[in-house]
Amino acid sequence: MLVASLWPAHLAGTPSGRKLPVAHSLRGTSVPHVGRAWQEGVAEEGDSSVNVLKSLGGVTANIFSLSPEGHNMWKRKPLRMDNEAPGATLKPLVFRVDKSTPRVVQSVLLERGWDQFDEQHQDVEDWNLYWRTSSFRMAEHVNVKPWQRLNHHPGTTTLTRKDCLAKSLAHMRRLYGESLYEFTPKTFIMPHDYTKFMAEYFKEKQVLGTKPTYWICKPAELSRGRGIIIFSDIRDLIFNSTYVVQKYICNPLLVGKYKCDLRIYVCVTGFRPLTIYTYREGLVRFATEKFDLGNLQDAYAHLTNSSINQSGASYEKIKEVVGQGCKWTLSRFFSYLRNWDVDDLRLWRKINHMVILTILAVAPTVPVAYNCFELFGFDILIDENLKPWLLEVNYSPTLSLNCSTDVSVKRSLVHDIIELIYLNGLRSEEKKCGRVSPGSSRVSFTRSEGELCTAPDSLPCLSLIRFASRTCSEANSAVHRATDIRPKPTRTSQLREMMNRQHGPLTREIAKGKPRPRARHTPRKAFSSCAPSAQLQPHRSKGHKAVLTEAGSTPNDQAGNFVLIFPFNEATFGASRNGLNVKRIIHELQKLTNK
Ligand code: ADP
Repeated sequence: MLVASLWPAHLAGTPSGRKLPVAHSLRGTSVPHVGRAWQEGVAEEGDSSVNVLKSLGGVTANIFSLSPEGHNMWKRKPLRMDNEAPGATLKPLVFRVDKSTPRVVQSVLLERGWDQFDEQHQDVEDWNLYWRTSSFRMAEHVNVKPWQRLNHHPGTTTLTRKDCLAKSLAHMRRLYGESLYEFTPKTFIMPHDYTKFMAEYFKEKQVLGTKPTYWICKPAELSRGRGIIIFSDIRDLIFNSTYVVQKYICNPLLVGKYKCDLRIYVCVTGFRPLTIYTYREGLVRFATEKFDLGNLQDAYAHLTNSSINQSGASYEKIKEVVGQGCKWTLSRFFSYLRNWDVDDLRLWRKINHMVILTILAVAPTVPVAYNCFELFGFDILIDENLKPWLLEVNYSPTLSLNCSTDVSVKRSLVHDIIELIYLNGLRSEEKKCGRVSPGSSRVSFTRSEGELCTAPDSLPCLSLIRFASRTCSEANSAVHRATDIRPKPTRTSQLREMMNRQHGPLTREIAKGKPRPRARHTPRKAFSSCAPSAQLQPHRSKGHKAVLTEAGSTPNDQAGNFVLIFPFNEATFGASRNGLNVKRIIHELQKLTNK
């Protein structure tokens, strides 16, 4: 019998009344899982704002005041401008948080010289960035000020709820053809698609005869592997709310003998015009028991969720090829693939196309909002033929630091997000102030596409150029080097200066109760994208300069390890500016794919 309730929806009460997850092992009994990860707040590369909130319910201030390394960050003085006179201080930028805000976000911002918003003593609008795990109300979006940024865009759950995503992708398949969107396993939404699923199930059975077929059933709204069932026999399919039933990828690429999937970070800095960046570093998450189709009940072999595998018996063991723990960096994984002579350029290109096509499926329905951005976690499984499959897209991908791999990836990720979201704002202000240095780097999409690092295949472009030439050692690949790179603090200083210039007087007016002057520019303009100066790209900027075809109109091509993948040429830039011409964009993507 192949029933495998791998991680039934379960939350057990604790004496304190707080809910804790129960690691439900089918091999044994359910045990309360109060592991290190949980105590630290969040335990998974998935998401679930609800659970994150629950998990942080009792966390006290001293946790927030410590950096992951244990340093107290509160007392840090605001940074000074690099070129300012000693003794002079600028007003620091202010971030706002709630209990769900990941600790690493707070510690990175404090490290960069930001101040934490103090509701008691500061004006209600006196903050620059509000970062929280759950979404914002529409009113909060509407009322956002030009100097403020929110870390969520409204309406993005259409991408991050499994059933909504399945619906959107099915719609795109109908419009643009099966082959373009064949990167998601066949999916049925239950109970709505029950009859269709039955028909498919029996059709497959007929074709395969006695050979088993494999399916996975996932609750539409849960994360972290909870409630998942893998089954071969239809009699084992149980669902009681909205689930998706998906073809189980039964030939995953194994490292050692272990299944893994990739967590790719994607930041959308705007849906109008659509602007997508992917992160060149990420996580590879491993199952901690050997892959075995003969035992579908073993969550540790079939699910790669860290929250599950961190409590596995083999987590600490040194596993074949994988080693200890359950995570690698993406750069290590790519390096591993290169050792096997895998064409990682091709793979990366496919992943980027997949990201663009997925976001295109929902972008037209996302409401217009400015001064906000969204970080997504794309979960991608690679099969043994090196075909990437999109499993799901996570909202508020967890930024908890549960191992050294997390620390190295996520701290840089947060640094680079801050760089990314403020680079454009800073540049638009710089332009207004006439501070864009003459001859500051400008790149036009009119360059030959082969040169562009902003094409969807540009990730991790530097490493891949080198990879193609096979001349440099792995250690030198850009992807590898990317993990060592830290942003220069100077951008924060520049930004602070810019924000102070704009915000200082305004805040004073508010404090005095004077009528507030109209913002000097609309939020749209405040966040409009334009060219970075060469100076603002201290790392990996060699060979690819800033983008600017029309003043202030095209997005920056890179910030830290974030690389622009959309728009990727003049045509897609045009097709995303006044409304979103999805058909045109897809046509451009197809041209690229067929090249
Ligand atoms: P959750 O939001 O609960 O994490 P996912 O869709 O990410 O749900 O699935 C959890 C894990 O289950 C994945 O990380 C992957 O290891 C495995 N998985 C999910 N869907 C499939 C699939 N179609 N084929 C193979 N493995 C899958």
